[in-house]
Amino acid sequence: MSAAPPERNVAVIGGGWAGLAAAVTLAAAGVPVAVFEAAQTLGGRARRLVLDGATVDNGQHLLLGAYRATLALIRQVQPARAAEELYERTPLCLMGPGSFRLRAARLPAPLHMVAGLLTARGCTGSDRLAVVRAFAGWRGDGWRCAPSQTVAGLLQGQPGTMVARLWTPLCLAALNTPPACASAQVFLNVLGDALASTRAASDLIIPVADLSRLFPDPAARFIEERGGVIHRGAMVRSLAVRDASIAVELAGPTQPVRRFREVVVAAAPWQASGLLERLPFAAGIRTQIDGYSYQPITTVYLRYDRPVPVPARMLQLGDGPGQWLFDRSTPGAADAMLAIVISADGPHRSLAQADLVRAIALQLRANLPGLDRGAALRWTRVITEKRATHACMPERMHPAAGHLGSGVYLAGDHTDPDYPATLEAAARSGIRAAQAVLDRR
Ligand SMILES: Cc1cc2nc3c(=O)[nH]c(=O)nc-3n(C[C@H](O)[C@H](O)[C@H](O)COP(=O)(O)OP(=O)(O)OC[C@H]3O[C@@H](n4cnc5c(N)ncnc54)[C@H](O)[C@@H]3O)c2cc1C
Repeated sequence: MSAAPPERNVAVIGGGWAGLAAAVTLAAAGVPVAVFEAAQTLGGRARRLVLDGATVDNGQHLLLGAYRATLALIRQVQPARAAEELYERTPLCLMGPGSFRLRAARLPAPLHMVAGLLTARGCTGSDRLAVVRAFAGWRGDGWRCAPSQTVAGLLQGQPGTMVARLWTPLCLAALNTPPACASAQVFLNVLGDALASTRAASDLIIPVADLSRLFPDPAARFIEERGGVIHRGAMVRSLAVRDASIAVELAGPTQPVRRFREVVVAAAPWQASGLLERLPFAAGIRTQIDGYSYQPITTVYLRYDRPVPVPARMLQLGDGPGQWLFDRSTPGAADAMLAIVISADGPHRSLAQADLVRAIALQLRANLPGLDRGAALRWTRVITEKRATHACMPERMHPAAGHLGSGVYLAGDHTDPDYPATLEAAARSGIRAAQAVLDRR
């Protein structure tokens, strides 16, 4: 055990979006940080992967205009970079399956959505009216409902076509939890924030840069330029409070124990629980975290040998197994790269990877009339993140981001009181934890 005095910088454990949001906020306030990230690539559950020479993400991500904290952080760490180099931002437009189309109108919120719903294609007049009535009712109730309500319960009385084409896909995309067990209150929080606050909040934001380039890599540069250090491949084994400081024990026989006065734990919940094990004041929080259940997200990448005409960067798919298609092709390229997303658990999880790819290739033929019969699949990859997010269920008990005790702080996507596990929840939590450090100094 080192007898040196505690280091003056703040230790941040976890180089995902929450940890880096905390580290950037501290660095911007003049507080140097030491970030410990177990992996070599920063970004955690939203990071770049290089597979067979192809750069993809561990999972296709979508951001919303309502992600104010995330978007502000992305700008903060690379102010000179044009937004178009990082992401494509378009007004809300949901297309498919079949002729279904919902496009936000060029009107102020919430009229942009009301007009969009009233002019939606591929559904009947009474379908549209039922959706507008529900939207107006939820807005009238201040986007509040009984805490125990599920999304399926909230949608009772909605026409089956709209449940299937609109609400279920939105619930799966936003909460990564099936409507039967998803929290209606969290669903309403996202709907109210994204669809009814400002028109820009409903914008769809699709990264064009890989996820590590979007924020984690420039965040690391921002932190280092302000005196911080990023330790990649540095797994923290344990934390313990000793002599008014926190001993941070790194994995590996030659790694020393380092002592800090302040430590932000920004690991994923199932990892954070182990790190908090020896901290008596965190026992209640560990019980809450250990009670979470998790939902997977599968992304299937398919590269075709020629361009594939896709009517929009993001397209809803009909008839499963794929739920959403994202066109990741480079404009003007001679080939096409498509990412197909399947949120939450479902029958696709029992398919062998080759069978899932085959089923999706067939589904694409049915959904994309422009897909050339002669187009050949050149490369495919199935990536399933088994614990992509915690299941977003009603009345989930969770800790808040901030100070836990004795200089230990918590951040992470699971700590947000309003949002599901998202980049925005992670970013907000990191900022909150950093603010708590600054407030106590
Ligand atoms: C496939 C997929 C698709 C998704 N799609 C979307 C989407 O479209 N939109 C959206 O907003 N969100 C989406 N999400 C959710 C979003 O990615 C997460 O909510 C967010 O990235 C969580 O960030 P975090 O920093 O809280 O946790 P994490 O990303 O899990 O970061 C924790 C980090 O801590 C590190 N770590 C853990 N333990 C230790 C240790 N002992 N020592 C050192 N380092 C440690 C880990 O390696 C990791 O890098 C998706 C997630 C997945 C997996």
